[in-house]
Amino acid sequence: MKIYNTLSRMKEEFVPVEPGKVRMYVCGPTVYNFIHIGNARPMIVFDTVRRYFEYKGYEVNYVSNFTDVDDKIIKKAIEEGVDADTVAKRYIEECKKDMAGMNVKPATKHPLATEEICGMLDMISTLIEKGYAYVAKDGTVYFRVSRFKDYGKLSHKNLDDLQSGFREIKVTGEEDKENANDFVLWKPKKEGEPYWESPWCEGRPGWHIECSVMAKRYLGDEIDIHAGGEDLIFPHHENEIAQSEAANGKTFAKYWMHNAFLNIDNKKMSKSLGNFFTVREISEKYDLQVLRFFMLSAHYRSPLNFSAELMEASKNGLDRIITGMEKLRELAEKTSGDKMMPEELENKKTAEGLIEKYEAAMDDDFNTADAISAIFELVKLSNSTASEESSKDYVTWMRDEIQKLCDVMGIITERKKEVLDSEIEDMIAKRQAARKEKNFALADEIRAKLLDMGIILEDTREGVKWRRA
Ligand code: AMP
Ligand code: ZN
Repeated sequence: MKIYNTLSRMKEEFVPVEPGKVRMYVCGPTVYNFIHIGNARPMIVFDTVRRYFEYKGYEVNYVSNFTDVDDKIIKKAIEEGVDADTVAKRYIEECKKDMAGMNVKPATKHPLATEEICGMLDMISTLIEKGYAYVAKDGTVYFRVSRFKDYGKLSHKNLDDLQSGFREIKVTGEEDKENANDFVLWKPKKEGEPYWESPWCEGRPGWHIECSVMAKRYLGDEIDIHAGGEDLIFPHHENEIAQSEAANGKTFAKYWMHNAFLNIDNKKMSKSLGNFFTVREISEKYDLQVLRFFMLSAHYRSPLNFSAELMEASKNGLDRIITGMEKLRELAEKTSGDKMMPEELENKKTAEGLIEKYEAAMDDDFNTADAISAIFELVKLSNSTASEESSKDYVTWMRDEIQKLCDVMGIITERKKEVLDSEIEDMIAKRQAARKEKNFALADEIRAKLLDMGIILEDTREGVKWRRA
């Protein structure tokens, strides 16, 4: 398997630190709002990478954090008059719902920054002891970039260039910094902000330290893959390398993978530009499977422009696969258990060639676009060769093989059952009757069942109202 490594800017053969295992860390979102579909790109892409490693027989330890303390979360909490923790918890839950909708598997571990402060204090202390960090007058702890000789190796930036670039910028409150490139590991609290005790001041961590600490705790000092969107290469991942390698004395990650941006009108989709759609908004128009399929229709290192036309094309493509699989499932019921016929054995060989094509595409730095083409060709072959006259062996073999390839892409090959309005209204009537009889247990049960079906009830003065989630 070959992976494009941002560190070397080359495709390299994948050799795990520990045979048969993959230790993978993916930087997760800052939770102050619903995630947008740009944030969904790394989630979908790296979930697919994980699934492909599993398909190949690797055991994958997949860690992805939630940044649950940060300026934006605090700002939002102040606006709403609640505490930061309430905002973060709410959007973690919402993010997990979106992930489930996109069929992104939960990570082996989703650590939260606020639950890893102890580890951060330890790592910062180590960095100070080793001379890689220093404490300024106000208690801010900075990483001493000039002390880490490899600084810039990931982003391929030269420290001298950085120096002259930064010299122009003077940031107030940072007068005590030895060097403009030095970055914050720990900073003093401000009025009304969440804070933790530390040897240096009551305060909170800088952004970069959490990932170094979580990767070390849940994956070890040396990991296989570290991933995220390409905007994280500098400074975030460069700083993570500096922190981890200075503290642990070992190479942090062997392979650095970065997805290109999801754009809209050829501009990066981002909260700050305001040109974004949330995953939730998209889910009102499309099954989120379509969004997943759309993301995988391009190579993860190519920029992808979001458009209604491409979403429609993805919807149709996905539908072709689902229809083909439905047909195979039906045929599996109807056909009998004969062994494959000579002609079927020939078709099976053709199909095996397509499976090889799929694997070759995925082995070549996870080329999901070509892998999906191979699935289409398989579906086409199956549509033209499987029938009621086929042997059961042929039909079930085809069904199971295509299913395995779809599972790697995270494509669900069953059509979602459309819940009819009349069905919902029937259930609501039953719930009302149960409430009248004071059978609240049954009423709650019906409400929960409806929720499972994606139907939300609201008891209003005008009666019960319902909407689809
Ligand atoms: P953030 O919450 O901004 O830290 O972003 C979470 C993840 O989403 C990071 O891996 C970002 O690189 C990624 N990301 C943000 N915007 C985009 C975008 N428009 N396209 C692709 N990835 C993005
Ligand atoms: Zn990170």
